[in-house]
Parts: sequence; C-alpha cells; structure tokens
Amino acid sequence: MANLRFEVVAEAFKKRPVEVEAPKVRPSEYFAKYVFNRQKMYKYLPSDVYEKLIDVIDNGNRLDRSIADAVAAGMKLWAEENGVTHYTHWFQPLTEGTAEKHDAFVEHDGKGGMIEEFSGKLLVQQEPDASSFPNGGIRNTFEARGYSAWDPTSPVFIIDDTLCIPTIFISYTGEALDYKAPLLRSLHTLSEAATEVCHYFYPQVKKVQTNLGWEQEYFLVDESLYSARPDLMLTGRTLMGHDSAKNQQMDDHYFGTIPERVQAFMKDLEIQALELGIPCKTRHNEVAPNQFELAPIFEECNLAVDHNMLLMSLMKRVAHKHSFRVLLHEKPFAGVNGSGKHNNWSLCTDTGVLLHAAGKTPEDNLRFVVFIVETLMGVYKHNGLLKASIMSATNAHRLGANEAPPAIISSFLGKQLTDLLDHIEKADKEELFALAGKKGMELDIPEIPELMIDNTDRNRTSPFAFTGNRFEFRAVGSEANCASSLIVLNAAVAEALEEFKTRVDALIAKGEDQTSAIIDIVREDIKTCKPIRFDGNGYSDEWKEEAQKRGLDCEASCPVVFDRYLDKESIEMFAKTNVMSESELKARNEVKWETYTKKIQIEARVMGDLSMNHIIPVATHYQSRLAKNVEGMIHIFGGEEGKKLTARNVKIIREIAERTEAIERGVEALVDARKVANKIESEREKAVAYHDTVAPKMEEIRYQIDKLELLVADELWTLPKYRELLFIR
Ligand code: ADP
Ligand code: MG
Repeated sequence: MANLRFEVVAEAFKKRPVEVEAPKVRPSEYFAKYVFNRQKMYKYLPSDVYEKLIDVIDNGNRLDRSIADAVAAGMKLWAEENGVTHYTHWFQPLTEGTAEKHDAFVEHDGKGGMIEEFSGKLLVQQEPDASSFPNGGIRNTFEARGYSAWDPTSPVFIIDDTLCIPTIFISYTGEALDYKAPLLRSLHTLSEAATEVCHYFYPQVKKVQTNLGWEQEYFLVDESLYSARPDLMLTGRTLMGHDSAKNQQMDDHYFGTIPERVQAFMKDLEIQALELGIPCKTRHNEVAPNQFELAPIFEECNLAVDHNMLLMSLMKRVAHKHSFRVLLHEKPFAGVNGSGKHNNWSLCTDTGVLLHAAGKTPEDNLRFVVFIVETLMGVYKHNGLLKASIMSATNAHRLGANEAPPAIISSFLGKQLTDLLDHIEKADKEELFALAGKKGMELDIPEIPELMIDNTDRNRTSPFAFTGNRFEFRAVGSEANCASSLIVLNAAVAEALEEFKTRVDALIAKGEDQTSAIIDIVREDIKTCKPIRFDGNGYSDEWKEEAQKRGLDCEASCPVVFDRYLDKESIEMFAKTNVMSESELKARNEVKWETYTKKIQIEARVMGDLSMNHIIPVATHYQSRLAKNVEGMIHIFGGEEGKKLTARNVKIIREIAERTEAIERGVEALVDARKVANKIESEREKAVAYHDTVAPKMEEIRYQIDKLELLVADELWTLPKYRELLFIR
C-alpha cells in the first residue's frame, strides 16, 4: 500500500528556498510604490482638488461630489501607468477576510469600440451584488441591497492589475454590514471625547488620533504536508495528532535563526508589503516550532486595520509562491502555543502623545493619570464586552489555555504606575496639591521617571497591559479583524472620557477649581476601577477565584460570551457613542452565533470523515497484520508457546479493537448531537448546543485517535504527524 504521507514528507524535505530578487533601490524608495498616497495625489490631481481631498482626509469633512470625478481621473491615470485594467471596492464584511469584485475600466464607446472609463461615481459608491455576505437579517428585514462607499482616509492601492478602493459596506438604510463603518464611527467619537478632556490641559489641541500597532503571529506549514491533512485544509487546524516528542520545551525556536526557506518567504512578503505602504519593521521566530511574527510600525488605527487585513491576504499569496501554507488559525496545533495578534493601542494629539508618562509639567502628569484611569474605567465597565469582542470559535482554544491571556479581562500596570495610582488615591488632597499663590497649581504627583517607558517588567499573562506609552491588548486572535476589538475599546474609552468630563464640569459649575475637580473625579475613578487592575499571574487558579470575587466577567463559553453585546450597558454605550444601534448589534450577534455553529459543524464533519476513512481503516489494517502474525506463530510454535510469544501482539490487537470501537461510537454520538442541535431554531441556542454537546465529543474522539497514532506502525499512518508538520521547513 503506497503511503501518501511518505511521499509528501520526502517532497517537503527536498524543497530549497525560492530565490527572491530584491528591488535595486532602498526600501525607503520603493515604500508605498503601489499606493495613491499624498505624494501621488499631489502629482496626479489639480491643486484645488488636492487641497479639498486633503481637507476631507485630515479634517473628516464630507467629500464634495464635484471633485470626485477629478480625483477618479487622477487615480485612473496613475493606475494605468502601472498596468492597471480593473478596479474594485475593497471591503471587510463580517467574515474573516476581505471582499472584492473586480470590474474592468472598459466601456462601450458608442462607435463599436471600447474606451477606458472610471468616473467619480464609480469611485465613491457602488452596489455590489453581495447578497450572500453575513448580515444577521438586516438586509432581509429592510432592503436587499448593500452599498460600498469610499473611505478616503485609507488610500487606494494596486494589487496586480487592479485598483483597490477601501470602502465601508452598509445597507440601504445605513446599517453597517462590515467592520470598517463602526470602526470609523468609534474613532470619531473617541477623538471628540478625548479632545474635550485634553482641553483641560492643553486648550490648543485640535484633535486626538488613535494609533494601532499590531503584531501578527502565524504558522507556516509546507504545502505538500498540508495537502495530506484534510483537517488543516478544511478547518485551518489539526483536529488530531499526537504531540511531537520534541516541541517547544527547549525554547530553541523563539528568536532563533530564521530557517532559510522561511527567510526567503519573509523577504518576499516584506518587499511586497512595503510596496503597498505597510511599514513592516520586525520579524522573528515565535515560541512554537514553525511559528513566526511580523510587526509593522504603528499607524493611525483605521489605516493600521486595513493594513493588517491586506497583510493577511498578502501572506497567503506569498506563502503559496514559496510552497508554504500560512496558518492564521489561533490554535492550529494542540500542545504548542497558539497565535495571537497583540494590538498596541494609544492616543496622541496633534501636539503629542497622551499615554506617555514622561511629562515635564504637573499638568502633563495629571493628564497622563486621567487618560490611564479613564481607559481603565472603560475596560473595567465593559470587561465582559471586550472579551466578547475577541471571542470566536477559533480564539476560544487559546483563551483560558495556559499560553495566552486567560478568559478574564484584566489590566497589568506595573509597579511604578500602580504605586502612582495608589498614592493619588490615598494621599490627603492637601498633600496632593498646594495652591502656590497666583502662579497656579503645584501638584505633588510624584515625578514619573523615564524608566517607565522602557518598562521591561512585562507581565505576559495580562490581556491588557500598559507598556510605557500604550496599552497592549493581547487577547486578540491571530485570524481576527482587529477592528472588532477596537470598536469596543474605542467606544468604551470614549464613553468613560465623556462621563469623566460631565462629572468634572458639574463640580466646576458648583464653583470648584478645575484641577481640584479633576483630582476629585480621578480619585473616585481610581477606586471604582480597581478590580480591573491585576499584576499577578493570570494563568493561576487563584486568579480565577479572585476575579470572580471582584465581579469580573469569568464566562468562558464562546456563544454565551456573545450575550455581552446585548447587555443593557453595552447597548447604551454603543448608542451614546453613536457607534452601533441596537438593531445592528442584534444582527451582528446572529452572525456571530451562526458563524460559531458553522465552524464547529464543519470540524465535526471532518472529524467524522477522517475517523471513518483514515483512522479506522489504517488501524484495522495494522490489526489484521498482527492477527496474521499471531496465527502464523501459533502454527509454527503450537498453542502453548505460540500464545506466549504473541501475547504482546494480542494485547495490541485488543487495544486497537477497543479504541476503534470507541471512535465509532464517538462518531455516532457526534452525528446524533448534531442532528439534535440542527433542529434548534434560535441561532443562539443552536450555538450553545454546538458548544455544549458537539464540541466536547470531538475531544473524546481525538483522544482515542492520538492513542492509536502511537500504537499503529508508522509506515501505515497516512496523516503527516506533528513532528513533520512542525519541523519540516
Ligand atoms: P513587543 O513584542 O515587545 O511587544 P514589538 O516590537 O514586537 O514589541 O511590537 C510593538 C508594537 O507596538 C509595534 O507595532 C510598534 O510600532 C507598536 N507601538 C510602539 N509604540 C506605540 C504607540 N505609542 N502606540 C501604538 N503602538 C505602538
Ligand atoms: Mg508585544
């Protein structure tokens, strides 16, 4: 019997790195080559059009339809010089990836020929026939059409022969059907709320920008091996596979020398990413074998999100060229680390950074404390919702496992900041600040040393850690659209800042001095949000108990966690901040539950197929071989001695029989559980049933399969093993 596994392993071993030809010029020279950025706008647009467009981009003013044609003409000219023949509205529906439908520039010229055309109308708005994107009922209830509309704050770019136009995707009645629309709304509200609070300290501030620096983790698997693993192909993760004897226990992969084939892939990826304006900066091996990370320099949040989406699709293409498959799944392999996507989040004004500690003046220090505390207030109040924002069927494997942030949101501040907040909370008010005549206030907020910015004492177990000038949200899944968590974080912090300002203003209206009022409210909030602060080990069982006592959300069931979106406080917060309406939230939750169910359903089907078509036949084959041996031995040596000599084989034969039987029973039970769940009408209840009754059965089957993998002769096992998937590159 030919074994595909041996063939693909041999093939994978033979592969050499693909030669990558680097551009002849320096990265700074080819950076954003395929992006219609300001430089190109300046070159290709009439100057009055350029001015107006920049105003739209920088100040969020409405795009004047009268300039759309001129902008489109300039874009088309630039695009055609780069060999572009098509254009597409590029958007982010409620699936994991991005969506695009390409149209050619060509139109009839009315004289029997063709001309290339691209009008402002086509640039600004389109109605993609996109009826099969998830919409949670919004488009059935209201209006079947979905519209995509240009987001001028994210520049258009070229991929191959296509001009890609970043757009939002909304229904006829204006409900968001994507991630970008609510993200933009959240950024807008946060900017306004933060600017207002900034004015207490710096009246000249015009706007506040949110920054995002993501770190993308991923696995690479050789394509030949991948092709022999139906579970990887169909579900993105291995549903079975015994631990490799060696995995990550030696810590020899982390930050190790990057393997040659991988190095070639990274080089290729980075060149192409830089050409698309993604400012790639860092690359290294991650903790697990065949796991890697790429991080760019942080950017404005909306742009950074687009760049992450773009990078994920680029990775898949480039990996293919290097005969790799990139695995973005949060947990492709049991027993080794999964992948996340740290979201480094910060606020800055047009005049400086807001979460930066090293202030020169007492005002700077107070401003710093206010923004830290109000961020914590948002995170505290909506900790369950924040968890819901990063939760998915795939990320659920990672959360709560001892490798990634636990399924409880808390924030690590480090000793210095903790001491500072404790001091502000506990000190006498007179101690905190003394009026120094007419010169103003002198605040006894201890000087915050520069050291904090290079805070090396980082707690890797914390889901939301302060790291010197930003918070690092570490619970985000590697496969996720960053926007999902940022929509919630931005809205929650905006709400906290708005409420902060309302309360401070109320005190001021009563005649209290501004600084004194700020201190009063900030002290109150330090006390209120204390439960969210946790610097200990987030993986420990004691923390789970402690968090429960503190009233933090400890729910771990994915479909139940989604309920947080429909809590009263969540609906109010989204409404107040104008980020999402109740109907949008409801629709999104329908999509979330449905997606959850489908993912588990697909996994369960693949599990059933592999069990019946790969595992049981292979195990039975080996069993027959052993049986033949036993028969032969008894024939040669006679009953008594033959039995003695074949006792071991008989034991294995029996064990295989027991395990294959257990697998068969497991598969039957799995099918039955699915049948019951499928009859449930409500998407939520169905998802809960899949979580409670279907998913656990897969674990039981897997357990038996992994035992069989150890038992059956290696030469018969058809699925590439962990030691091959994880170590061949
Ligand atoms: P680490 O793995 O130690 O957390 P990395 O260098 O891998 O650090 O990634 C840090 C990320 O944080 C980068 O994307 C970086 O650009 C980003 N970053 C740095 N400063 C800020 C900031 N003020 N706001 C947002 N992101 C930031
Ligand atoms: Mg990091």
